[in-house]
Amino acid sequence: MTTATIFTRGSAGLAAPAVAIQVHITNGLPAFTVVGLPESTVRESRERVRSALLNSFFEWPDTRITVNLAPADLPKAGGRYDLPIALGLLVASGQLAQTGLENWECFGELGLDGSLHPCTGLLGGIIAATSAQRRCLVPLIQAPQLARVPNSVIVGAVDLLSACALIRTPSAPPAAPSRDLQETRAYPDLADVQGQGCARRAIEVAAAGGHHLLLNGPPGAGKSLLAACLPGLLPPPHPRQQLEIMQISDLMGDPPLAIRPFRAPHHSASPAALIGGGASARPGEVSRAHGGVLFLDELAEFPRAVLDTLRQPLESGQVLVSRVRGQHWYPASFQLVAAMNPCPCGNAGASGVTCRCGQDTIQRYQARVSGPLLDRIDLHVTLQRQTAEDLLNANNINESSKQVARRVSLARDRQIERQGSLNAGLETAKLMSTTALDAATQRWFERAADRLHMSARGIHRCLRVARTIADLERAPTVEQSTLLEALNYRAMPVVGHRVGDSL
Ligand SMILES: [Zn+2]
Repeated sequence: MTTATIFTRGSAGLAAPAVAIQVHITNGLPAFTVVGLPESTVRESRERVRSALLNSFFEWPDTRITVNLAPADLPKAGGRYDLPIALGLLVASGQLAQTGLENWECFGELGLDGSLHPCTGLLGGIIAATSAQRRCLVPLIQAPQLARVPNSVIVGAVDLLSACALIRTPSAPPAAPSRDLQETRAYPDLADVQGQGCARRAIEVAAAGGHHLLLNGPPGAGKSLLAACLPGLLPPPHPRQQLEIMQISDLMGDPPLAIRPFRAPHHSASPAALIGGGASARPGEVSRAHGGVLFLDELAEFPRAVLDTLRQPLESGQVLVSRVRGQHWYPASFQLVAAMNPCPCGNAGASGVTCRCGQDTIQRYQARVSGPLLDRIDLHVTLQRQTAEDLLNANNINESSKQVARRVSLARDRQIERQGSLNAGLETAKLMSTTALDAATQRWFERAADRLHMSARGIHRCLRVARTIADLERAPTVEQSTLLEALNYRAMPVVGHRVGDSL
């Protein structure tokens, strides 16, 4: 045989389009040409494949070799095509039989000595190959991780020679899924947060309804600690979301993550780092926080242009990264926790300390965060600096994350059962029927909304939060006291007063 076809997968965002490696050997002057939009790492495969073949006791055909990576318009990068190119060469030169190879998809980078090296971003390929009902040949070291994909048949090879042997053995045992994934992580415990009763309650409501949260308060109030507690309050991700979380950590070359991530990018992060992009498109922080929590500390210090890029993922739960050679969708359904100081010096509104900032400076500082972004954050809560009594009182025994997580999980189950989504994503049309306000409560709420000059969006947000509070309390309807609590979580000037005072 002088031609051969081996199947593998490319990488485009989380998708893994099928790629057929066609190898053709003809008479002529010795040459090795790769066509089909190969990037430099793929063009260099010639040297790796040649050395690997010779060091695995195969012959290198000294004739004209053409390798076509189809489809031709899909850019191909990385060393993952080495193994299929080598296998194609062996088949085309008659050193390996073609029979049965159509049931396999092969992945892996070759070393000069013929050993198989791991590659990033294979998980998407395995998922796609499994739904195409093909077996997968991968580097041995990655096999247990990749075998986590349900229904997959993964065979791991240590080098080119054993890859050829395994592919010829129909009874080659598939790899067992690994159990050493990072499935537990010591998130800070809510019991370690001293005082801050109001913020503790807000974070429980945020966890229960999937609401975004803004923590407002002076430095040292414990904002970062509270935010880091949130992933520990959420139930484990459902299997499909867990696969997506693993796929993104796999694309980044990180150890596969099977738990809800917590990402806290610095305020000097560029739009590409936050949203995704770069010369070769990569997921950004919003996608790396998919299924978990994105924490933006010092929100007002982020450049406005960077913050405005958050609107698309907040709205749609995914992000489109456009590059010259195509567009990639990445999932980006995260829970946002933002923290900001009330003013540049951090002391505005605090008792016992003096704020050195002028009123103008404070207003300019707070205006750095755009209205549309704040509008998408359901819960706004103001923290006070912890007092010495809060910190030193040994009688303060707080509820642990585990206790709160139990209530959160029950409240979430109630929402899914009732409306198929969490309250944060509840459609406006369904709001009134799910909150089921009685006539008197509705009139009271209308008066309150009028007096507080609330926008339509603000009213809807308030109802969603109220529904979550009622779910935490297992209440079928939303009462006036619940609405009053929800009104206290609405956006308002940082240096202000509580809603109850003005009603
Ligand atoms: Zn100040």
